[in-house]
Amino acid sequence: MKRIELLLPAGNLEKLKMALTYGADACYIGAKEYSLRAQASNFTLNDIKEAVEFAHNLNKKVYITVNVIPREKEIMGILPYLKKLESINIDGIIVSSPVILYIAKRYTNLHISISTQMSVTNTRSVNFFNKMGAKRVVLARELSIDEIREIRKNTECELEVFIHGGMCSGYSGRCTLSNYMSSRDANRGGCAHSCRWNYDLYMDQEKINKDYPFQIASKDLEALDYIKDLCLMGIDSLKIEGRMKSLHYVATLSYTYRKLIDDISSNTLKDMSYYKNLLKSSENRMNSSGFFSGKYDYSMNLYSKMGLEANQSFLGIVLDYDNIKKEALIEVRNHFKTGEVIEVMSPNKDLYNIKIENIYKDGILVDSARHALEKLVIKVDKDLLVNDILRRVQDE
Ligand code: SF4
Repeated sequence: MKRIELLLPAGNLEKLKMALTYGADACYIGAKEYSLRAQASNFTLNDIKEAVEFAHNLNKKVYITVNVIPREKEIMGILPYLKKLESINIDGIIVSSPVILYIAKRYTNLHISISTQMSVTNTRSVNFFNKMGAKRVVLARELSIDEIREIRKNTECELEVFIHGGMCSGYSGRCTLSNYMSSRDANRGGCAHSCRWNYDLYMDQEKINKDYPFQIASKDLEALDYIKDLCLMGIDSLKIEGRMKSLHYVATLSYTYRKLIDDISSNTLKDMSYYKNLLKSSENRMNSSGFFSGKYDYSMNLYSKMGLEANQSFLGIVLDYDNIKKEALIEVRNHFKTGEVIEVMSPNKDLYNIKIENIYKDGILVDSARHALEKLVIKVDKDLLVNDILRRVQDE
């Protein structure tokens, strides 16, 4: 089995470092210029430089999304921008406009991926973009596993497949609902997720969603059950969506899919419930396997479904550890108290539990952690590492 790339999103440098530390082989990030999700990104060129240096030190990669649909006045700025990216040694760009593909191919040596926003759903389209200079195509999220297999068999082009995260109700990104509802352009990084708002539904003036608000949105994608197939058929990269998501999400997704891919390649795959359980604490939206099964119906949608409770599993992150005093400096995210047994997620280790023996705030003993982002010292019964994530123990 060839090595498959695990590709995580990162909305800022902290998340990028976390994703790579927890097992991602590469991250994709948006710069302030020419990127969708402009609001999800605060990467300046200096940040990108730091990200690339951090990743390359670990032998990992950074791709930059240059996936805006450019207007006339933006065209002249594209080449200078691409040249700047090339000069700081990025590993590739992701594009969704023929003009950016053309300029990048003609005037740079950048590795070019075709974004899922181009909705590539067949081999001929893959080969077309390959001939035009793209080294990789991110397939449309609307394909089944059998369709992906068929394309894989028929092309030499690198293929990237989305395996986890939010889905659009239209073909990825080809939606203007947000433009109409909130004057925010979904194709310029401003999507207000209007499909996930609560609506009332009327038929002949009669409200028919009596018990729940109505949402147009689909459930999020979770393709755990299809990863083995994707690895075995020779897909080049598995991509996770969510540059707006939290540090905990990025670390948990990276950790879980790293384990799953490694277990597949070493033939030590566990029951899928193990990996599903690892993911459980990372988000509070409902999941489905999207279009992978080839059967799609209303069960993939959030129609008439209330959102799940806010997730409070992420308790804190270790900023420093004193292994003589057995004390960790942590940044708190959710409430926990002395005596509680909590779970530790640490890169390259299995999950394990620790007991909180004491909690100190500014050197004074307190009985619990109450406020998000406060810095506390905890005494625990096992050694911790910087960047370890503390979580509430998950029910099996
Ligand atoms: S409003 Fe919903 S369907 Fe439209 S672009 Fe945004 S997330 Fe996608």
